[in-house]
Amino acid sequence: MQVVKTISEIRKIRPKLAEPVGFVPTMGYLHQGHLSLVRYARVENRSLVVSIFVNPTQFGPSEDFERYPRDTECDLALLENERVDIVFMPSAAEMYPPRFNSWVEVSHVTERLEGASRPGHFKGVTTVVCKLFNILQPNVAYFGQKDAQQALVIKKMVAELNMDLKIVTLPTVRESDGLAMSSRNTYLNPKERQAALVLHQALNLAQKLFSEGERDASRLRREMLSLIGKEPLAKPDYVSVADTETLEELDTLTLPALVSLAVKIGKTRLIDNVMLE
Ligand code: AMP
Repeated sequence: MQVVKTISEIRKIRPKLAEPVGFVPTMGYLHQGHLSLVRYARVENRSLVVSIFVNPTQFGPSEDFERYPRDTECDLALLENERVDIVFMPSAAEMYPPRFNSWVEVSHVTERLEGASRPGHFKGVTTVVCKLFNILQPNVAYFGQKDAQQALVIKKMVAELNMDLKIVTLPTVRESDGLAMSSRNTYLNPKERQAALVLHQALNLAQKLFSEGERDASRLRREMLSLIGKEPLAKPDYVSVADTETLEELDTLTLPALVSLAVKIGKTRLIDNVMLE
């Protein structure tokens, strides 16, 4: 496994990589969710590149960029164990030199849900992912359904800007009690960790109501909010039952639908979702 920190170095290596080249972008502090993408990509590709880059431009000024968890040594050991060929680990200065002024923006679908709560977030995401695609020239890139809106936005960017690669979305990996794995779970103290189960419980409730025949999307949102309201440590940011393509809120449930939510548990903001199909 080769650890590469500069764009000039990767440019020399890339032509020598056997194709197809698979790519898994991450912000590090790796867990089984990340590793599920890496394992899937390892089987499907002759070469496998993983990036670790905590992208400053996708964090708002009052968000957790500075304290975002980092453990490079542990990440590299995990990736070595998965037989990754290249780890691309640029510095912020390498990715954003002084007077950096070029941005990639997808409109509309980025204005809802995470985009509404985190202004500028997706502009940072699409810009860094576009840059990583240009630098690494992968044939296939892998994203988690955990960040459903992000996967949708990236797919739209790739299709509409005619980028020559395939995007694959893979299922959310959960802890045994249902909590979606996330690097941010490390912020939770034991009481908050317990309270965080309310996200999964709310999604389960939506699925149950749907399977019992409920088709009123606002009732689903109401019932989920009411369940979250019973957890004193939880403060909902949004609860959504939306069209999977436009992310517009539904009145009557039509399939497929994306049920998603963002909830603050103490100071930690967590997201999760489930697809009704
Ligand atoms: P991050 O390091 O949080 O930027 O995540 C890197 C990639 O891993 C993204 O495509 C995420 O959607 C994906 N990911 C994060 N958590 C999970 C999870 N629990 N299950 C599956 N994929 C995940």
